[in-house]
Amino acid sequence: MPELPEVEITARRLGAAVVDLTVESMSAPGMVVMKTLSPRLEVLCGARIVAVGRIAKMVTIGFEPLEGPGLTLLVHLMSAGRLQVFEKRASLRDRASRILVRLDSGAELRLREFGTKQRAWAKLLPTADLGAEEMVASLGPEAWPAPDPEALATALRRRGHLHSLLRNQRLIAGIGRSWVDEILWEARLSPFKKGLDLSDGDLVAIHAALQRLDAAIELYEQRIGALVPDKMPIPLQVHRRQGEPCPRCGTTIAAIHYAERITCYCPEEQTAGKVLADRRLSRLLK
Ligand SMILES: [Zn+2]
Repeated sequence: MPELPEVEITARRLGAAVVDLTVESMSAPGMVVMKTLSPRLEVLCGARIVAVGRIAKMVTIGFEPLEGPGLTLLVHLMSAGRLQVFEKRASLRDRASRILVRLDSGAELRLREFGTKQRAWAKLLPTADLGAEEMVASLGPEAWPAPDPEALATALRRRGHLHSLLRNQRLIAGIGRSWVDEILWEARLSPFKKGLDLSDGDLVAIHAALQRLDAAIELYEQRIGALVPDKMPIPLQVHRRQGEPCPRCGTTIAAIHYAERITCYCPEEQTAGKVLADRRLSRLLK
């Protein structure tokens, strides 16, 4: 699932590949992918790509159309979407294609989505309106670069537990289910610590732990070439590592299973030695 570091490297690699290229044609074979009807994608024919960026877990692609004001395509990859540039054009039979942008260089920018569910989405908006768009306007501060501990106090000292507060894009933007486990492990804090119980020391620890995002981006800079691979080498040490030894203290990493998700933590360092109730097991016991 692409989160802030994965979307950041995607935006950087896309930018290097497509900025200054011109759109020859554009289509959205994934019928439900476009969440806006107007302007229509056809207005981008002949447009120059002027910028590629990232907002939270979304990619922005800026266009300068032949006529009218600048437009931005705001893309959310959700759990299984990928934005990649290919030298050759896709066969129309590629069922994973959601948006195809044919470029004057002969290359093609593709939004593809794996699996059967169509969840990835895009909106085409006047660039001037981007900041007011609801998905953008409602965001909290970006998780990277890390907000200072005072800003984290404002974001996180509230009802709810850390595992859900840190993933709430309205409070702090860019973290999802993978990186939240890593950040909480790094900070040695329980996923179920209450936001209202956070000490100043806890906030300093979260601030420091957010450096993991920075380290991940640096790693991707070294490891990922021009084409962002379908499966990224995500440097996770705790998430989905249940049963393995904690890389810091050797205690077996524990997990709480939900329907489609999982939360992993080190019981020794994060929950005072306590292994938390597994929701899956408690449901079976009811
Ligand atoms: Zn540990």
